[in-house]
Amino acid sequence: MSQTPQAATNPGAASAPQPLPQYQAISPYKQGQSAIKGQSKVIKLSSNEGCFGPSPAAVTAFMTVANDLHRYPDGSQTRLREAIADVYGLDASRIVCGNGSEELIGLLTRCFVGPGDELLLSENHFVMCSIYGKAQGAKIVLAPEEEFRTNIDAVLARITPKTKMIAIANPNNPTGTYNSQDEIDRLIASVPRDIVVILDGAYAEYVEKEDYNAGTRWVENSTNVIMTRTFSKMYGLAGLRIGWAYGPAPIVEIVNRLRTPFNTSIAALAAAEAAVQDFDHVNRVVAHNSRWQVRFQDELGALGVHVVPSVANFYLLHFENIDGKSANDAGEYLRANGIIPRPASDDRCLRLTVGNDDENEAVIRVLRNYVNG
Ligand SMILES: *Cc1c(COP(=O)(O)O)cnc(C)c1O
Repeated sequence: MSQTPQAATNPGAASAPQPLPQYQAISPYKQGQSAIKGQSKVIKLSSNEGCFGPSPAAVTAFMTVANDLHRYPDGSQTRLREAIADVYGLDASRIVCGNGSEELIGLLTRCFVGPGDELLLSENHFVMCSIYGKAQGAKIVLAPEEEFRTNIDAVLARITPKTKMIAIANPNNPTGTYNSQDEIDRLIASVPRDIVVILDGAYAEYVEKEDYNAGTRWVENSTNVIMTRTFSKMYGLAGLRIGWAYGPAPIVEIVNRLRTPFNTSIAALAAAEAAVQDFDHVNRVVAHNSRWQVRFQDELGALGVHVVPSVANFYLLHFENIDGKSANDAGEYLRANGIIPRPASDDRCLRLTVGNDDENEAVIRVLRNYVNG
């Protein structure tokens, strides 16, 4: 039998290239399902995409850049950073934009978390956070929740000398619950200053609570807190991949050093710049969302379904209080009726995105049949 040259010189070597061990332990991110076998028209409520799509002004800006596709994007992202800074009252020099906010979360993890370090997350968390942590060879530490809410005391209790980063989505996904400004005040005041805290505000624009702050309050007054935001959800630009972070200058600077210079496309930069200035669109989307969250509470709650109180554009359902019903069966039933939810919390729950009026009516109708059937 002939031997490969490599085997001849290195007899113990594996027969194929092996990735670093920490990568082998990662299970791939599961995207929300977008099709159902045998059904041509489906209602996709599995990925929290803004149900009204983008602002028409963003679409126009996108079309306009079609004439400039041979140009590299502005690597300094100046116009978009200035537009965001203007709208949200921030310092543009401390904003950095990413290929979705998940890229920024990934870059921050690479910058600050290494092998053997601990990355502290809430029990329910954005799955990409733990994937990025594992990729660094870090240990993922989870703080148990109470009533599907990030428990600040549980987070604080799990800080050790090895903790390098804490990432909290507020509102959280897949729960839709939020932590008040007082709670985050307490968190930030108690976290040692050498630990990076990411406040992920992917759904911040939807929140209409007086006692909520997306993160600027802490970014402005600390050296270790950074806020991430996205154009994928409320702004309806998920397909373009554009998000941003706002943080202390030294943290933003290290992210800028590590990111590729052209991580945000000209289409994404232009569309986002228009989107962030269309306040009518924002107001319309937020009003629709809040109205439907109340109806889901009322109507699904009346069926006995537990609807976790959500301030985001999705809601988490569990069926444990109803005899003979389960999230799994409810999911099957919804799919059989052309509606795609997303399994969540180890399949104990279903997460559904707030859709348009017709889509939401369909969800209520189908779940009523499921529960009564
Ligand atoms: C959707 C989502 C993101 C990622 O958004 P992109 O900007 O599209 O990468 C980040 N965090 C949470 C909690 C999300 O739900």
